[in-house]
Amino acid sequence: MDVDIAIVGAGIAGLSCAQQLQQAGYRVAVLEKSRGVGGRLATRRLPHDRADHGTCYLSPKGELFRELIAHLLERDVVQVWTDTAYTLNRDRALQASPDRIPRYVAPDGMSAIAKYLTTGLDLRFSQRVIGLELTSDQTSDQTWTLAIENTQPDAAAASTLKASAVLIAIPAPQAVILLEPLEKTIVSTELIQPLRSVEFDPCIVVMAGYSEDCLQQWQATYGDVKAIAVQHPDLGWIGLDSSKRRTSCQPIFVVQSTAEFANQFLDTADLSPVGQKLLQAAAEQLLPWLATPEWMQVHRWRYSFPATPLSDRYWSAATTAPLVCAGDWCGGMRVENALLSGLSAADYLNQQMGDRAIATPQFWQAM
Ligand SMILES: Cc1cc2nc3c(=O)[nH]c(=O)nc-3n(C[C@H](O)[C@H](O)[C@H](O)COP(=O)(O)OP(=O)(O)OC[C@H]3O[C@@H](n4cnc5c(N)ncnc54)[C@H](O)[C@@H]3O)c2cc1C
Repeated sequence: MDVDIAIVGAGIAGLSCAQQLQQAGYRVAVLEKSRGVGGRLATRRLPHDRADHGTCYLSPKGELFRELIAHLLERDVVQVWTDTAYTLNRDRALQASPDRIPRYVAPDGMSAIAKYLTTGLDLRFSQRVIGLELTSDQTSDQTWTLAIENTQPDAAAASTLKASAVLIAIPAPQAVILLEPLEKTIVSTELIQPLRSVEFDPCIVVMAGYSEDCLQQWQATYGDVKAIAVQHPDLGWIGLDSSKRRTSCQPIFVVQSTAEFANQFLDTADLSPVGQKLLQAAAEQLLPWLATPEWMQVHRWRYSFPATPLSDRYWSAATTAPLVCAGDWCGGMRVENALLSGLSAADYLNQQMGDRAIATPQFWQAM
């Protein structure tokens, strides 16, 4: 056996499960198809700056996530960005939310939160899991063999990894692709059905940089407003991303589309005109110069927010060698749900694999 538990996906769900199980003494490996951690907790490196093109901020609702945020605050990984959410309604009137809830961000980019959670883990990058097989060894114990493709250009041929248990911590539609070859022989169609019911909305995100005087014009019109949810057919949200940084070279805005807008352009090869269209809409709703940035980059999320999440915190294939799925779509649509799902999956896997004592109830207390 190469490892006790193989974890597919280094997003928040995968990393939190990995930390919890590693602290209980299991040998854990995290396989990630990209070259970095965080998944949708994503930060784009720019020539002189950075921008968060995935998760924009965190606003904890439950006790456990509040505790993690307090831990990250103490270590200077996150700080309060703003305590007021604004909405631009259909009549273009700006309304502040009546509540005053802190919204937390990472000044080094939201992916810094995921990086912090990797401490001490066996992380394997550019490793896309493309298949799973259940085999029995001489002792007739069942073992998972993961087929892995190296996603680096000119990489060696595919490899495999053997594990006693597997956690798949990726969006449900991608998990279904991995599970389908096991359908009927190892996992019943009835069991896979709930995973098939989970739909994700897409999102197109534009990151755009402007000249210094634009910041003064923004502040002259919108004061200290950092982010605005927009009630518009194309525009979903706009944030002054550069206001999250300790130092920044220029004003950078991040603009998120609605799911309806993203659906129209999901397979468009050249996203530049699509990004321009979004900026034009932002200019019409907010300030005219938003249509003419000094530069822009566009990112397409095929799976951004779960539109129809499951109510359970994790999904189990009910196999002797445990096979579990987790992610934000198990219980919600945000980072907090991904964390809770990863922790619940860890509890379940621990119970299945020997119920080892975990020294601290939550992994960050030992970090
Ligand atoms: C534009 C946008 C804005 C958002 N804003 C917010 C916000 O403000 N607040 C908030 O709380 N949440 C927000 N979210 C949602 C939040 O990002 C997610 O809920 C959370 O990050 C999901 O974490 P996860 O671990 O479940 O999955 P993911 O972050 O999707 O992680 C899955 C990982 O698995 C990897 N992977 C996939 N397939 C394979 C494979 N076959 N082999 C190996 N690796 C694989 C992926 O590369 C990825 O790293 C936003 C999301 C988007 C897209």
